[in-house]
Amino acid sequence: MSKIYIRIPQQLLDSILLDLRRPHKYTYERVGFCYGHSVITSLNEWVVILNEYKPVKDENYIKTSLVGARINSAAITEGFQFAYSNSMSLFHIHLHDFEGGRPEFSYDDLSSGSEIIESMSSFVNTQIHGLIVLNKNSCNAMALISGDSELQKAEQITVVGAKLNLSFPKWKNTVANRNNRYSRQLFLGKNAEKTISNLKIGVVGLSGGGSHIVQQLAHIGFKKYVLADPDIINDDSNLNRVVGATIEDAKKMRSKFAVFERLVRNLHPRAEVLGGKKRWEELFSDFKSCDIIFGCLDTVIGRRDLENFCRRYLIEYIDIGMGVETSAKPFSMFGQIQLSIPGHPCLMCNGFITDESLKNEANNYGQKTKRPQVVWPNGILASTAIGIAMDLITNWTSTNREAEYLSYNGNDHTISDHLMKDYRKNICPHYPISESGPIVL
Ligand SMILES: [Zn+2]
Ligand SMILES: [Zn+2]
Repeated sequence: MSKIYIRIPQQLLDSILLDLRRPHKYTYERVGFCYGHSVITSLNEWVVILNEYKPVKDENYIKTSLVGARINSAAITEGFQFAYSNSMSLFHIHLHDFEGGRPEFSYDDLSSGSEIIESMSSFVNTQIHGLIVLNKNSCNAMALISGDSELQKAEQITVVGAKLNLSFPKWKNTVANRNNRYSRQLFLGKNAEKTISNLKIGVVGLSGGGSHIVQQLAHIGFKKYVLADPDIINDDSNLNRVVGATIEDAKKMRSKFAVFERLVRNLHPRAEVLGGKKRWEELFSDFKSCDIIFGCLDTVIGRRDLENFCRRYLIEYIDIGMGVETSAKPFSMFGQIQLSIPGHPCLMCNGFITDESLKNEANNYGQKTKRPQVVWPNGILASTAIGIAMDLITNWTSTNREAEYLSYNGNDHTISDHLMKDYRKNICPHYPISESGPIVL
């Protein structure tokens, strides 16, 4: 049976909660329909990208003495029509505001809900449709894959925002087993170990920065990876900074992918390592399934394309980069770390990607001067990026951070908020949530 992963932007969820909590003249509960796009990954898993919500009109509720909301056929037809005319996924969504922990569907929720979803499935059979129930801080979902006889529990529901709010409907609500290897990081939370081993992390670019990132992810306990780099290890400039690479790798001209797959497997023999000795653009189908992607790219245009991809699929993107300016003395070493959260400021909002920076890069294309790169700033940038990711996942700091934009000064060894953070808009105009999802031709 294919697994189903559901992603919903925090901003959209906030607006849904506002709507579902509005009082109604004669019913105690409201429901609504959420819409999105379903995509299939290289492992035949479904990812549902929810990006739109429509409330049920007040007059379409039926007066009833029963608990729970009843909606009339006009409301259902309206929902079906919208999903049908846009070839979208449809999710019936309601709220159990009274329940703590993970909300559970009532018998009634399931029997009336399944009927709606089964008939929806015959209208748009290319998409996944289902039911979502929310409460204050968690959610639950059941969904139907076209052709299956019944709805199944979603594998994972991810609310994507300044934190990853994760629900795993198949887990029992008990404390996860403890593995001694992770006894020093128990402070990350009671389900941290299990959560970490279930999330999928992408790393694009396996040189100076990417090598530190993969190494740390593997030690922390991540077991699912998508790694991409088209290059091989060579002795003329890689061994000065690619951690984990050896003289032997350079002699055998091993791919960077092979070196980092080895690094992961030396700690987790049965890890899932997707990707390959390819450009990431050739591996869309693998990267779509990532929860977080680290970008360790050299070019502005590469970053723009990767961030664009992450926004489409509601993936948290963490970008790092460094440089050394040698045109004036003393030389200056600098770097930056950017967290790009769907719906929040992007690399363009940060002023990092501009028409000018893209144009300059295009003009200099083909001038293959080797830019200075050394191991230690990459280590600092990568470690900080990992720290940001661990807080996204576990919320161990309980601090509500926004999209980080940090600036590294390698001459005086400091990391601080980038000055641009005070000047940018808080809502990104470049990638509206409603436009997420794959390009539909
Ligand atoms: Zn219910
Ligand atoms: Zn933006």
